[in-house]
Amino acid sequence: MTGSTIKLSSGYEMPQVGFGLWKVDNKICADTVYNAIKAGYRLLDGACDYGNEKECGEGVARALKEGLVKREELFIVSKLWPTFNDPEQVEPVVKRQLSDWGIDYFDLYLIHFPGALKFVDPSVRYPPGWHHDGKSQIVKSKTTIQDTWRAVEALVDAGLAKSIGISNFQAQLIYDMLRYARIPPATLQIEHHPYLVQQELLNLAKEEGIAVTAYSSFGPASFLEFGFKHAEALVPLLKDDLITGIAKKHGKEPSQVLLRWATQRGLAVIPKTSRPEILAQNLDVNSFDLDQEDIDKISAKDSGIRFNQPSNYFDTQKMW
Ligand code: NAD
Repeated sequence: MTGSTIKLSSGYEMPQVGFGLWKVDNKICADTVYNAIKAGYRLLDGACDYGNEKECGEGVARALKEGLVKREELFIVSKLWPTFNDPEQVEPVVKRQLSDWGIDYFDLYLIHFPGALKFVDPSVRYPPGWHHDGKSQIVKSKTTIQDTWRAVEALVDAGLAKSIGISNFQAQLIYDMLRYARIPPATLQIEHHPYLVQQELLNLAKEEGIAVTAYSSFGPASFLEFGFKHAEALVPLLKDDLITGIAKKHGKEPSQVLLRWATQRGLAVIPKTSRPEILAQNLDVNSFDLDQEDIDKISAKDSGIRFNQPSNYFDTQKMW
């Protein structure tokens, strides 16, 4: 595997810099994935909810066919959407997702969010999204994380996933999980940028041997399109004086400083872009080192501001 990797508790190596697939338009997704692989990305971060797994698979198939990479050189990640958290739904949806990707195992499979939602049959709507009726209803399922995790562990036994992990979990849930997990989560994927550092959660993950992947590394940038007022109110991190000043000092882009701030502290990152020059730039983030003083200054911007809160996408706080 090329580039820096992180050794997971499962024994597998995970590339430290990957490519994110959220909001990659279906029309350009196959080309984007192919171009990302061509640019050198080996980790692809997908999910049922992104609604583009078929197109991702087309991009992968083209890269494999042209001999750009072998399947075993790729590290393909996907996620379990909460409407499939009921144990009996896990394996069927994973098989569907694998079939969409055109592969027979995921390198890493994550529980996307902790709270289970009532099952929506894929023949009714796929991907199902948050709402049971496709419009406004949030309907919970009684399934616990423990029940879902047992079914996710069974994916490893069945050879459908090499490593398994969690996303958007907080400390107490992780402590609880570690008491019953037969296979502990290999990774934790969380929102992480200078406005949301979550240092205590990072410390916990380190103590427990759980690798952390940071998403939305550029903070508010990813959430402006949802009209989130708290995203609009903030100074964009790519234009922030501290970040641009550090970038200038190293002859790098502000985006590279934000990604390096995470990777130098041992985290994996999964930025996304469809612009070829940016593809290469986002991948080239481990070729310089930030000064510790600058790392600390960036970390000191922490304001506990979270954008990817499920309740931000629908009008109820009841579930979370
Ligand atoms: P991102 O950090 O990839 O991108 C945010 C915005 O910045 C996008 O508009 C992108 O086009 C732009 N951008 C990318 N590189 C840039 C650069 N070098 N200069 C300027 N602009 C640049 O944000 P994201 O998509 O929120 O997160 C990355 C990935 O993380 C997602 O694609 C997805 O795979 C994953 N993710 C996971 C969850 C989860 O719940 N587990 C949630 C959000 C994202």
